[in-house]
Amino acid sequence: MRRMATGDLSLGRPKGWEDWRWQMANRIRTPQQLSAAFPRLTADPDLMSVIAKYPMAITPYYASLIRRVDSADPVFQMCVPRSQELADPPFLMPDPLEECHDMPVPGMVHRYPDRALVIATTMCSTYCRHCTRKRIAGTRETSITKRRLEQIANYLTEHPQVSDVIISGGDPLTMSTENLEMVLSRLRQVPSVQIIRIGTRVPVVLPMRITDELCQMLRKYHPIWINTHFNHPQELTPESIAACNRLSDAGVPLGNQSVLLRGVNDRPQIIEQLCRALVRNRIRPYYLYQCDLVRGVEHFRTPVSRGLEIMEYLRGRLSGLAIPTFVVDAPHGGGKIPVLPSYVVSQSPTHTVLRNYEGMLIAYPEPQGWFESECCRPQEDSAPGVWELTAGQYSRIQPERTLRQARRQPCCTSDESVRDF
Ligand code: SF4
Repeated sequence: MRRMATGDLSLGRPKGWEDWRWQMANRIRTPQQLSAAFPRLTADPDLMSVIAKYPMAITPYYASLIRRVDSADPVFQMCVPRSQELADPPFLMPDPLEECHDMPVPGMVHRYPDRALVIATTMCSTYCRHCTRKRIAGTRETSITKRRLEQIANYLTEHPQVSDVIISGGDPLTMSTENLEMVLSRLRQVPSVQIIRIGTRVPVVLPMRITDELCQMLRKYHPIWINTHFNHPQELTPESIAACNRLSDAGVPLGNQSVLLRGVNDRPQIIEQLCRALVRNRIRPYYLYQCDLVRGVEHFRTPVSRGLEIMEYLRGRLSGLAIPTFVVDAPHGGGKIPVLPSYVVSQSPTHTVLRNYEGMLIAYPEPQGWFESECCRPQEDSAPGVWELTAGQYSRIQPERTLRQARRQPCCTSDESVRDF
């Protein structure tokens, strides 16, 4: 890569800058390239050890968004490796979401009944230091084989309850248009697949990849949705906005998944600014993730309460359209759990007392003569969950192997009108 100093990464744009393949070929991958790009960067003695474990790649474009070469800069924090990545408390895990336990076919996660996630590649243009899939992202830069794709398509055909498939990685938009089309066209041949979603950070870190050729190809496989991954307003540049516009104009609805990151975006005003900018550019804020319990990211984690504070701040200031859902993607494969401030203060059969964002208390009278409508009756074959408890179909969900449970004797007076589980 051409030698570039901080601040001139975008100004002295070399020939090829607008070409996404040039950006991929000229990624910052080694300590030498990093110090050539940022001569004022203080050398980190652990850099080699960090990148041996968690690879580094930064596109020249994304590096050009760094305004100061230290951890006060959000973009710097998200892409430049730091020694803290090697300091793991014992509760962090390589795969905290236990995706590997929900893989009926290697490379495909089937956790929720109607959705599946395909890991189409392990390559990204820029390796985010906060990545949840640090265990695979960049460790080998490979993409899905035809054989594996066939296995996945066969699984989906045999499981028609899966109607929504997410193509993820790595970053699927780093694949060649031809290879990505191979994946899309094969998935579209599965009759039960209705929606295809792509999870990508390319509009943020490599916007020149969103070419007209790519958009033309995507158009053929609608409905295609894309979730991208802006974390900070500094990432919304004329280039990234133009890339998102090209996708929107190709009929692709855009959502955004942010991760709450210490020192990057953990102030309510930053998230507010980000969400406003996203909506202004036709990108719907979808999720704000609590940082996962993944190894190598402890220095990015915030308490869950910080996310709640942010949600409290956003409500009332922003329209509902601009407010993401704050979620904890629960360890042990528990899935996404929305966490939000409580707006229900109290309830009786006749009134629910609510509070608004200002702290105003309002009594909401309940309807008179309410009865259970047909549509709310549970399915006979539904699996037990909290909703089935509220519907009265089950009386309890009992944790196994508690000491109290082991001591208990069978009782002949149990109510058999509802089932236990
Ligand atoms: S682009 Fe996505 S998969 Fe790749 S490193 Fe960033 S967060 Fe991880």
